[in-house]
Amino acid sequence: MFERFYPHRTAKNVFELDEKFYTSNNIKGVIFDIDNTLVTHDTKTPPKEISDYFKFLENLGIKIAIASNNHRERVETFSKDLGYTYISRAWKPFKKNLKRIKKEFNLPENEICLVGDQIFTDIYGGLRMKFYTVLVTAVGENETKFVAFKRIFEKAVMDEYAKFHNKKFF
Ligand SMILES: [Mg+2]
Repeated sequence: MFERFYPHRTAKNVFELDEKFYTSNNIKGVIFDIDNTLVTHDTKTPPKEISDYFKFLENLGIKIAIASNNHRERVETFSKDLGYTYISRAWKPFKKNLKRIKKEFNLPENEICLVGDQIFTDIYGGLRMKFYTVLVTAVGENETKFVAFKRIFEKAVMDEYAKFHNKKFF
């Protein structure tokens, strides 16, 4: 019933996505969500482990972009010193801004991975684009009421996904 929302895989955090993951799936470009994917909502700037992780990706020749549905100030403060393309108010799951990044990456959709923590924005947006999708189990607990509300429905999707794959992710 919910198949169209299934991520290709789940990970506790981005650090689980190692060299083997990227090479075996032939991923050449990654689009990251920020909040509860790279860091918690209240982490204003990238911690060292995130900038180190990005350097690790660059060394693998992987392109990086950031697409967040959050407002400009939050996304700009987090992203401006990193030197990658970033889009605030990205309106995921709508395709417009994801298409922009795909064009800039100049890669086919099956070589692009979208990493996010929300099924109905990040994952669904990535799936609509035919990207590889990774659902990160929430990095932080500090969620808005709206996100908490959406998670009730996400849980329904993931329960079914777990049943389908005969294993539990959360
Ligand atoms: Mg998020």
